[in-house]
Amino acid sequence: VIQVKNLYKIFRVGDEKVRALNGVDLTIYKGEFCAIVGTSGSGKSTMLNMLAGLEKPTKGEVVVAGQHLENMTENQLVKFRREKVGFIFQSFNLLGTMNAIENVALPLTFRGVDKKVREAKAVKMLKLVGLSKHMLHRPNEMSGGQQQRVGVARALVLDPEIIFADEPTGNLDSHTSAEVLGLMRKVVQEKNQTMVMVTHDNHLAGFADRIFHIIDGKIVKIETRSEYKEDEQ
Ligand code: ATP
Ligand code: MG
Repeated sequence: VIQVKNLYKIFRVGDEKVRALNGVDLTIYKGEFCAIVGTSGSGKSTMLNMLAGLEKPTKGEVVVAGQHLENMTENQLVKFRREKVGFIFQSFNLLGTMNAIENVALPLTFRGVDKKVREAKAVKMLKLVGLSKHMLHRPNEMSGGQQQRVGVARALVLDPEIIFADEPTGNLDSHTSAEVLGLMRKVVQEKNQTMVMVTHDNHLAGFADRIFHIIDGKIVKIETRSEYKEDEQ
C-alpha cells in the first residue's frame, strides 16, 4: 500500500545542505504495522511527513494507496490526507474546551456528518479504546495515557486506510506507552488498517510486525518482529 523509491529530502539551511533522507527505498503492505526506528535527527519525522503527504520530496517517488504524492498539487495533497490517512501525534493536540466525545467527533464535523451520527461514532470509538467512563471529561480531567487514547480514537474515527504516528507515546511512561501501543495495534489489526509509527524507543518498536532501522537518512536494516526480538537479546 506504500512504495517509496530512491527518496531524497534535502533541506537548505543558509549555505549548508542537510540530507535528511538520503536515498530511501521501502515497501509497506496493506494491514502491516511497521515501525521506523532510529536516533534523534536520523530522519524519522521527515520520512513520515513524506509518506503522509505533509511535505514534498526533493527527489524520488512516494506511492501511497495507488497515488503518486510527489506529483500532486497542494490541494490534491489536502484531499489525500483528509480521505486516506489518520494522524497520531506526540503531543495530544486535543482541544481543551471540548470533552472526549467532542474531540473525537471533530474530524467528522469537517466531513459534514450529522451530529447524532458523529456522537454515536465517537462514543463507539471511545469504548473501543477503553474510555467508557471518561466520555464527558475534558483533557485536563484525564491522565496522559487517557488523553493519548482519545487521540487514538480521534485518528481512527474516520476509518482511514493508513495511520501515521510520530512518537505516539512520547509523553507517556513506559508502562502506559506499552498499553497504548498494544491497544493501537489491536484496533488497527481488527480493521486491517495499515499503521506506520516512528520512534526512537527500541522496546516500543518491538510492537510492530516489521521494523525499519534508519541511520542518517538511510534505511540500513529491515527485520520482522521475531528477528528484532532475537537481536535485542
Ligand atoms: P527526532 O527523534 O529528534 O524527532 P528525527 O529522526 O525525527 O529526530 P528529523 O526531524 O527527520 O529527525 O530530522 C532529520 C534531519 O533533518 C535533522 O538533521 C534535522 O536537523 C533536519 N531537518 C528536519 N527538518 C528540517 C527543516 N525544516 N529545515 C532544515 N533542516 C531540517
Ligand atoms: Mg522526529
